Amino acid sequence: MTGMATDCLFCKIVAEKIPAMFVYEDELCVAFADINPQARTHVLIVPREHVASMAHLAPKHTALVGHLMAAAAEVARRNRLDERGYRLVVNTGVEGGQTIEHLHIHVLGGRHMDWPPG
Ligand code: 5GP
Ligand code: ZN
Repeated sequence: MTGMATDCLFCKIVAEKIPAMFVYEDELCVAFADINPQARTHVLIVPREHVASMAHLAPKHTALVGHLMAAAAEVARRNRLDERGYRLVVNTGVEGGQTIEHLHIHVLGGRHMDWPPG
């Protein structure tokens, strides 16, 4: 396994040491339902590699980030969110509201989203 952080909750979910409701997976990422959903659809797209946040991206991660965005769009499509729309969120750092220090994209859909976010 590439770059697993032993203390990281999402690394443990990726390694299936902690259970989660997987809805999608491929060689670079997994997707599972958020345990505390904020919309009818609330899925997290998580790279298998431990990258702490957007602020920790290195040049080698550029293709991975594109892959995660494409996976998010695929998960949205599978949840039939294309027509009415959806929101992707990447909380980053303390002021960004990030609580789990393993990069993830929130896929939120099934209700109207407000702007600006809180
Ligand atoms: P953040 O606040 O870092 O952007 O998002 C972390 C998300 O992870 C939160 O929406 C939270 O509900 C979710 N989460 C925290 N612990 C668990 C867990 O054990 N399992 C799952 N499926 N989601 C979790
Ligand atoms: Zn991790």
